[in-house]
Amino acid sequence: MELTPCPECHAPAEIVGREVWSSTDGPVEHARVRCVRRHFFCLPTERLRRQGVTRVAAGAPEVDGDREVA
Ligand SMILES: [Zn+2]
Repeated sequence: MELTPCPECHAPAEIVGREVWSSTDGPVEHARVRCVRRHFFCLPTERLRRQGVTRVAAGAPEVDGDREVA
């Protein structure tokens, strides 16, 4: 599961799917995002990267996510 702040209310939002749209500049990957307050968006993944995306393994909370791996 991947989480990102909701673009509207900044509550935790889940990335529920990804799709690629063609554009004049070439294909653009978009992500479907649904937040805990039921806002729903389809955004370019470039925009999500600027906001930050957190990967969450189901049933296994990450405890060392901030540690750099050599
Ligand atoms: Zn929201």
